[in-house]
Amino acid sequence: MKIENTIADYREALEEAPLERVAQWKASHPDKKIVGCYPVYSPVELIHAAGMLPVGILGGGNRLEIAHADSRFQSFVCSIVKSTLELAMTDRIGFLDGIVFHSICDPARNLGSVYKRNFPKLMVEYIHFPQNMTSPHTVNYLTAEYRRLLESYTQLSGAKADDESLRRSIRIYNEQRRLLRELYALRAAQPQNLSTVETYVLTRTATLMPPEEHIAILTEALAALRLRDEKPKDRIRVVLEGSFCEQPPLELIEGLEAAGCYILDDDFLTGWRFFTEDIPVDGDPVRSLAESYIKRSVYSGVKHDTRERKSQHLLDRVKETGAAAVVILAAKFCEPALFDYALYRQALEKAGIPHLYLEFEEKMWIFDKSRTEVETFVESMLFD
Ligand code: SF4
Repeated sequence: MKIENTIADYREALEEAPLERVAQWKASHPDKKIVGCYPVYSPVELIHAAGMLPVGILGGGNRLEIAHADSRFQSFVCSIVKSTLELAMTDRIGFLDGIVFHSICDPARNLGSVYKRNFPKLMVEYIHFPQNMTSPHTVNYLTAEYRRLLESYTQLSGAKADDESLRRSIRIYNEQRRLLRELYALRAAQPQNLSTVETYVLTRTATLMPPEEHIAILTEALAALRLRDEKPKDRIRVVLEGSFCEQPPLELIEGLEAAGCYILDDDFLTGWRFFTEDIPVDGDPVRSLAESYIKRSVYSGVKHDTRERKSQHLLDRVKETGAAAVVILAAKFCEPALFDYALYRQALEKAGIPHLYLEFEEKMWIFDKSRTEVETFVESMLFD
């Protein structure tokens, strides 16, 4: 099948019912267990090594009607929290055997507790990621947290996960992330040959299938994409920041590019591309995973790291990609993104880098306003 058709096929599935393919996979693998991973980052290797399938539970998209979850959360809570609850309350994720949440923000923390209370048959796990990255005890702490998790997962699956099976899983996910880094590098170098929607669709499929299958798809896609030779359009080159958790509708991403931007880098689905280099497979693999969170992970609005300034990372990305501007695309009511925006804005203004702030909700249907704002921003830069 041509790469364009493959991407169109996955795009349609993502827009219609993103989790339908997971339900189909479960139907054809009834003995396999599935564990959902709420954003941002989950150590998927632990789930995979225990013989189960980790899948991304990233909200309900803009076709899901919120009819029940509103009664459990205040109106000023982000959409992904409500739609993720709605998915369970309307039995759309009955294929899950477990789900894992993390200490990313108060709404996500509360969502984990609401799940635990309302769905007692589901194994609900919660990871307390370290808040202090510089303490000499941090790696020991996270290693212990991961061992606790691995123990729960082997109990859930009934399979034994020894060091060798964990090393095998780490190698597989290293390969998947290496290919995703290649995909991102290709778009940054030749954005005229690979749109952000295509990049997004190829990345998001990683959250819905076994990594071994996704690696095959990505390998084939990269080979085909490298043959493209399109002429660059007259667009401004930007880095996009702020969509690390709730995901914007595909039409909105598409609209940003159509309005005159080449997006050279973004933080969509950042948890599935979380490491800047391979996780080492020598030594204790659980410790290696924990150490990699501290030493090899990307910055994010929900990772607390006093060793480095997030705003400096953003400036570095602008410099490394050669972008001319930044688009901050933040989920409505996302406190971590809003807090970061204050710092990003200050740093961008000081560095003389133009930026545009946009807010989105996963349930958005109308994109005219955002598109007009981007067009005005682009024109102000092109004809300055
Ligand atoms: S979108 Fe923001 S506020 Fe909502 S769960 Fe994610 S990090 Fe928390």
